[in-house]
Amino acid sequence: PQAQVDLRSFIRDLPDYPSPGITFRDITPLLSDPGAFAAAVHRLADLVPADTDVIAGLEARGFIFGAALAHHMGIGFVPIRKAGKLPPPVHRYTYDLEYGTATIELRQDTIPTGARVVILDDVLATGGTAAAGATLIEQCGGRVHHLVFLLELAGLSGRERLAGRPVSAVFDL
Ligand code: IMP
Repeated sequence: PQAQVDLRSFIRDLPDYPSPGITFRDITPLLSDPGAFAAAVHRLADLVPADTDVIAGLEARGFIFGAALAHHMGIGFVPIRKAGKLPPPVHRYTYDLEYGTATIELRQDTIPTGARVVILDDVLATGGTAAAGATLIEQCGGRVHHLVFLLELAGLSGRERLAGRPVSAVFDL
């Protein structure tokens, strides 16, 4: 029955948010519906290679789906956080945004050397956040096994930004 849930119908479009001309895809209706949330986690799990060691979720909505997914699969979860949230020692990576920069951090010693890591987030847009997460995982000695998203915004070329890395999404818009 979960295969029949139309996950697209649980995404709410918010036009002109956060700025004019941008349509924000709000995933919160999907979270609050138990059948849709369960279906989303099952379909994410179908995209994660069976030999994955750990799920690394990107703050903040990557934590929601990533933690549920890791629990469902019986493997561990590691948070990749925005700067200043994790206690030291951390690895840090700064990347460019359209305006300015952003910094993400990962606790040292949370990724065993050579671990097969799946990076998880709710939405793949330009790919900048996920590419930064992949770089950070590699700086920490992990291997980026796959990048998995609930929703891919197909017009924004995120896959090209992640060129050479395996990328999967449950659905696109
Ligand atoms: P990117 O770095 O441009 O790929 O943006 C991806 C990041 O921004 C992810 O962490 C997403 O959660 C967030 N994001 C970008 N666009 C949207 C959207 O339309 N809805 C929800 N999250 C978004």
